[in-house]
Amino acid sequence: MELEKRLSELTGKMFGKTMDACTDAQLYQGILQLTKGMLADKKEIMGNKKVYYLSMEFLIGKLLSNNLINLGIYDEMEEVLERHGKKLSAIEEMEPEPSLGNGGLGRLAACFLDSIATLGLPGDGIGLNYHYGLFQQVFQDRLQKAEKNEWMEENSWLTKTGISYEVAFGEEKVTSILYDIDVIGYHNGRNKLHLFDLKSVDESLVKKGISFDKRAVTKNLTLFLYPDDSDEAGNLLRIYQEYFLCANAARLILKELEEKGCDLRRMAEHAAIQINDTHPTFIIPELIRILTLEKGFTMDEAVQVVSNTCAYTNHTILAEALEKWPLAYIEKAVPQIVPIIKELNTRVAEKYKESRVQIIDGENRVHMAHIAIHYGYSINGVAEIHTDILKNTELNSFYRIYPDRFHNMTNGITFRRWLLTCNRELAGLLTDTIGKDYQTNALALEKLLEKKGDMVVLDAIDGVKRQKKAELSEFIRKAEGVSLDTDAIFDIQVKRLHEYKRQQMNALYIIHKYLEIKGGKKPVRPMAFIFGAKAAPAYVIAQDIIHLLLVIAEIVNHDPEVSPYMKVVMVENYNVSYAEKLIPACDVSEQISLASKEASGTSNMKFMLNGAVTLGTRDGANVEIHELVGDENIYMFGKDSETVIGHYAKGDYAAREYYERSPIIHRAVDFLLGDMAMRVGHEENLKRLYRELLEKDWFMTLLDLEEYIKIKDKMFADYEDRVKWKKMMLVNIAKAGYFSSDRTIEEYNRKIWKLR
Ligand SMILES: *Cc1c(COP(=O)(O)O)cnc(C)c1O
Repeated sequence: MELEKRLSELTGKMFGKTMDACTDAQLYQGILQLTKGMLADKKEIMGNKKVYYLSMEFLIGKLLSNNLINLGIYDEMEEVLERHGKKLSAIEEMEPEPSLGNGGLGRLAACFLDSIATLGLPGDGIGLNYHYGLFQQVFQDRLQKAEKNEWMEENSWLTKTGISYEVAFGEEKVTSILYDIDVIGYHNGRNKLHLFDLKSVDESLVKKGISFDKRAVTKNLTLFLYPDDSDEAGNLLRIYQEYFLCANAARLILKELEEKGCDLRRMAEHAAIQINDTHPTFIIPELIRILTLEKGFTMDEAVQVVSNTCAYTNHTILAEALEKWPLAYIEKAVPQIVPIIKELNTRVAEKYKESRVQIIDGENRVHMAHIAIHYGYSINGVAEIHTDILKNTELNSFYRIYPDRFHNMTNGITFRRWLLTCNRELAGLLTDTIGKDYQTNALALEKLLEKKGDMVVLDAIDGVKRQKKAELSEFIRKAEGVSLDTDAIFDIQVKRLHEYKRQQMNALYIIHKYLEIKGGKKPVRPMAFIFGAKAAPAYVIAQDIIHLLLVIAEIVNHDPEVSPYMKVVMVENYNVSYAEKLIPACDVSEQISLASKEASGTSNMKFMLNGAVTLGTRDGANVEIHELVGDENIYMFGKDSETVIGHYAKGDYAAREYYERSPIIHRAVDFLLGDMAMRVGHEENLKRLYRELLEKDWFMTLLDLEEYIKIKDKMFADYEDRVKWKKMMLVNIAKAGYFSSDRTIEEYNRKIWKLR
């Protein structure tokens, strides 16, 4: 009753209207205000020690439903609205999605904030407030076009604080403004996400699409996340952005410590700073700079204190992602930090002779990860296999120096968003079946295993899946103009577009199936292949793969001989909101990265939790999913990481050999240059991709293609044994508890942060 009264008062005040008379957009504004007030009233989580999670990305997604759930008022709000003829789900659509992240790394940061607050731990995120976020993806002429994503509105979850700092870039000074977003734990208190903005930011700098003057740093720093870094100006802008984040974070952390009356010499007893990938590594030299220059620390003291406070998470072994900035670039952007970096480099060089562990290399490039490892107290990988590869291969030289600093923290996902919010039907069914224990203790999902022989439960799980598939079909019909048969098997691959993730291998499978059907081999059940992915604007081959997927979709969906049996959809602008619709509706979760390349993956966990069965390589967290569910509840294939690493070491992978040897591969690859593809697609893109596949194929698409085709066909055949499949769904859900980010955060706290 209370909620109803407050909301109707608010809409009266804001719009002079009753709730019934309000539009959905107005109701969204009203509920936003009301909810923001309730968040602010929550008790701040306090403690003697606090973690600061520094990240260039926080892919938080929409916040309304998640906040309502964590406040424990979702159902009540839904009922209130229903009494006034309104639907909460329609109102949720009014919220713009901030795109403050690229993919997994940024989404992980968001899941972690939810879990930190849910566990009642003091911990804030610190990041940047990009006005246009990552770009918005539009398809035009079957090519990706990048537009700005205008997600900021006059009223939003952001609250402007009075906090503001001066940041110097050499002689040039800019001013920051801090915005906060309240982060509420599930039935728990409040932490914050701090997002720094540039006071002098100038939106009018953006001309067409996402192009703007990259050199105008006093105006552009917080316009976009990851601007095109294919040239020097783009690289420099990244350095400016990273330093802007770290300089502000350093000021904020020191201010909080001083306000609490902490002795800065005992900083590590009061603060842990988690560096999310190398991007925020400047926090280390920046803190040392401030402590020595302003707080009377000797260099030795400052180095010691900062090293005991900072911890680094490695997210990838892809060489191009391990940042190495030319010293000259740093000198140009932030000269004041260069003497510190040189000092850190000298200290390392005096102690260790091995070239692989130096901070500044022979080409005068600064290895950011090396700063974070030498001058932090912890380094962690994000899944068992990934951490093992770091220890044994990529960072082996460091592991031999600092064996005790290495930890594995297998990633996780917050079940509040990836189950309670996105699949309320399944959450409800689980509560009815095993009680609601699992909502606070994810491992309690295992109780579901007792129901493996219970046809009523199995049918109910399958019933939810069917309902979510029907909802997704309806959404895709409206949004993409393609109609999917709910009886079809839904096969989904959604993630950033990258060759190592091998969307192109999936594409070749689809071509193979298409040709089979054209040749008269009809499948027993229709298949729906669904993709979603953004490609970095400067990544040419990734754009070509998107083009290929759109070309295939066009050909398949408009071929009357084939379209009754299969459909292909590449959804536009894949983001968190889209993920929340796709994941509950999935039957087959595609996790087919080249072994050793996907550090963890987290969509694999989201899919599993929602009852999809994984089709995956022995990579990242797939390995742990496999261990948990057992051989009979997952489909694993492909060469293992040792074999792949061996191919790289020997340089003996030749794509063309696979192409020449297998008529199936031959035929599928040639399709790219065939009449049909050429009629619909662009010769330039398809030819370039064809050549890439045969002459380079750095991520070994063809290595696993034959095995992929075999096992996928087997999987589709198994789907027809409906009881068997439903049991696989049940086991996957039951075993997903390990992948709750509450478990991950509990481990970070126990092994790294030690907050209490
Ligand atoms: C979870 C998530 C990702 C990460 O997906 P991976 O398959 O693990 O790479 C990327 N984007 C969005 C929107 C997500 O929700």
